[in-house]
Amino acid sequence: MSFFKKVRNTVNLLKSVDMDQLAKINKQIDLSEAMKTLGKLDERQLAGLMKMLKTKRKKSQSDLPPIDGDFYNLDYKLTEEQRELQMNVRNLMEDEIRPLINDHWNRAKFPFEIIEKFKKLNIAGIPYEGYGCPNLPFLMEGIIAQEIARVDVSTSTFFGVHSGLAMGSIYLCGSEEQKQKWLPQMQKLEKIGAFGLTEPNVGSGVAGGLETTCKFDGENWILNGQKKWIGNATFADVIIIWARDVDSNQVKGFLVEKDNPGFKAEKMEDKMALRIVQNAIITLTDCKVAESDRLQNANSFKDTANVLRMTRAGVAWQAVGCARGAYESALKYTRKREQFGRPIASYQLVQNHLVEMVSNLTSMQTLCFRLSEMQDQDMLTDEHASLAKVYCSMRMRDVVSRAREVMGGNGILLEHDVARFVADAEAIYSYEGTKEINSLIVGRAITGYSAFVS
Ligand SMILES: Cc1cc2nc3c(=O)[nH]c(=O)nc-3n(C[C@H](O)[C@H](O)[C@H](O)COP(=O)(O)OP(=O)(O)OC[C@H]3O[C@@H](n4cnc5c(N)ncnc54)[C@H](O)[C@@H]3O)c2cc1C
Repeated sequence: MSFFKKVRNTVNLLKSVDMDQLAKINKQIDLSEAMKTLGKLDERQLAGLMKMLKTKRKKSQSDLPPIDGDFYNLDYKLTEEQRELQMNVRNLMEDEIRPLINDHWNRAKFPFEIIEKFKKLNIAGIPYEGYGCPNLPFLMEGIIAQEIARVDVSTSTFFGVHSGLAMGSIYLCGSEEQKQKWLPQMQKLEKIGAFGLTEPNVGSGVAGGLETTCKFDGENWILNGQKKWIGNATFADVIIIWARDVDSNQVKGFLVEKDNPGFKAEKMEDKMALRIVQNAIITLTDCKVAESDRLQNANSFKDTANVLRMTRAGVAWQAVGCARGAYESALKYTRKREQFGRPIASYQLVQNHLVEMVSNLTSMQTLCFRLSEMQDQDMLTDEHASLAKVYCSMRMRDVVSRAREVMGGNGILLEHDVARFVADAEAIYSYEGTKEINSLIVGRAITGYSAFVS
């Protein structure tokens, strides 16, 4: 070896030395003795030693960057109080709700204790004004939906049905008296709500085809028919029932209480998604409802659609939460799981999946953030909400499937949560308007032609 090459090797060797590490080693061994020994090494031994020294130190988990699915720091756009509320929700979800979820999901049981826990947060009816509601921006409703779904989509569905669909129907379509009667109790989660629109024969076509009927008999309204998929309905205190008036052919809304003798709710079994949510088939048999319990400002399906527009934004945020939960779990897993002697997160093909996930997630978050801003500025239209629902639910499906993929066999175990996100994503994908129906709404808005079958 030439003299210059030796000098260069020595310089390189010195450059690769971690001085902090060296100081630590010096405390344990006599380095001057060690250097004397080094001088006696031949070229081959020296090369071997250099290779060993160059071998990268194994990173411990604490050396790695924090796991945070908010890649573009949207949290920074929140005020201090908003951020505090977000963290309160996150902490409750992590500390008190997460430990309950997989077991209940597995058994398809609803963990009723979460209602008591949620009472502490004061988050029901977030955007509504009056009636004890917090009256915070819609943005916070979205951020909270994301936080809850990030841990469990079933819990966020329970909450979205109660706070969004049921309270929202009363807030937008109820008389002052009806709002005073129900909203303060529902805000405190003392009374729980459900929303009954879909039917066994009518899903996407609810605007024109409801088979559940209502008829005024001069004294009361008489409701007959069935509803399907109605979340919370097995235990809710009040169920909003949408029915077609046989006389005017218009859709009307009713506040039906659970002990009404004409009302029966049967739990739907064997779901492969959102197993914690208690979805029911509701049967209404000559169900008598007083005029005072008819939603006084719900006069046609347009009023029902106003409720759906308001809540669809929340469903888009739920998709964000579902994707975020899956991404963060998968990232954590890939940094710990080793194959071929290295964490699988260090492999290029695995990183490609992770980067696809975080880019999907970031685009969903930024889109929803703007969506909520528009909602707060009263600029939100049906097509804005539909585009967010379509886009986010498609991207969410991509994220959860990649999360499942990078986890190998463990991706189908409940233990790591991702399997649950994969299954639950399928429900988000279909409810509150399928991809096709929301696409038709956007298509109509951008082309000027309605492709709905009339
Ligand atoms: C877990 C879960 C919870 C739910 N919770 C509630 C609830 O609390 N309250 C409530 O009222 N409802 C609830 N739903 C019902 C939900 O909103 C409906 O499932 C949804 O609107 C779709 O209706 P459908 O399932 O009957 O499908 P269908 O309407 O039968 O659609 C089947 C397929 O046909 C496609 N399709 C239909 N029409 C067209 C068209 N014109 N052009 C192109 N394609 C079309 C759809 O996109 C879909 O792919 C829930 C559903 C689920 C899965």
